[in-house]
Amino acid sequence: MIFRQLFEPLSSTYTYLIGCPETGQAVLIDPVVVTLERDLAEVQRLGLKLAYSVDTHVHADHITAALELKNRVGSAIAAPAAERVACADVQLEEGRPFEVGTMVFQPLHTPGHTAGHFAYVLGERVFTGDALLIEGCGRTDFQQGDADALYHSVRGKLFALPDETLVYPAHDYQKRWVSSVIQEKQRNPRLGGERSIEEFREIMAGLNLPYPKFIDYAVPGNQQCGVCPADLPENLSNYCRQMTESPQG
Ligand code: FE
Repeated sequence: MIFRQLFEPLSSTYTYLIGCPETGQAVLIDPVVVTLERDLAEVQRLGLKLAYSVDTHVHADHITAALELKNRVGSAIAAPAAERVACADVQLEEGRPFEVGTMVFQPLHTPGHTAGHFAYVLGERVFTGDALLIEGCGRTDFQQGDADALYHSVRGKLFALPDETLVYPAHDYQKRWVSSVIQEKQRNPRLGGERSIEEFREIMAGLNLPYPKFIDYAVPGNQQCGVCPADLPENLSNYCRQMTESPQG
C-alpha cells in the first residue's frame, strides 16, 4: 500500500493519500480545497489515479476538495450516508466495506462530533476524523454534537480495535502525526483510562471554546461537496485560495 500523510496548515488538517500498488487506484481522505494542487501533484508523482475522495464528516473548519477534485480528475465523491450529503456519488455505511483496488476500508459510524461522523479502518490503520484526536477529541457543541454519543463511539468502537492499530486523526495542532489505540486508551486525558461518561460530559461542557470563525461558510459549502461561498469576507479569503507554499509530510 502507498501511504502519504499530508498537512494543511490553515486548519491544521491531515489529508491522507492512500494508493493501491496493484491497480494504481488512489483515495484522498479529508482533502482540503486550498491544498488541492499539492495533493494532485503528489497523486501524479506517485503514478496513481485518484478514484475517490472520502470525507469523515461535514467539516466546519475548511472546505473539502471533493467537488473540485471531481471536476479536475473525475474522482468520485464518497461520504458517510449518515451525513446526508446528497451530492456524494457513494454513500458509505457501516457494515458495507468500501473497496478501492485491492484495498478494503471498513466504515465505522462514530457520532458525537457530528451526528453522521464516520471513521475508516484500513488494515492496521484507523482514520479517526475528529472523533478521536491525539490526546484529544473533536468538539461536541455544534452540528448535532453530543458528548454522550462521542464517548460511546470512541470507547465502544475505536477502543475496541486491536491495541496496535495506528490512529490517524483529521487534525493535530501540536505537530503530532500518529498515535495508536493502546496509547489513546492509556493517555487520552478526555477519553482514556477509567474516565466515566459523567466526567467526559463535564469536560466537554466546560471547554469554553470560541465560536468557530469559518463554520457558517464551511458547513453549507461542504453540504454541497465543497463549494467556496461567493460572499466570503476578506479576512477568511485564505480558506478558499490555493496555497502556493505548503509543508508536506
Ligand atoms: Fe470537524
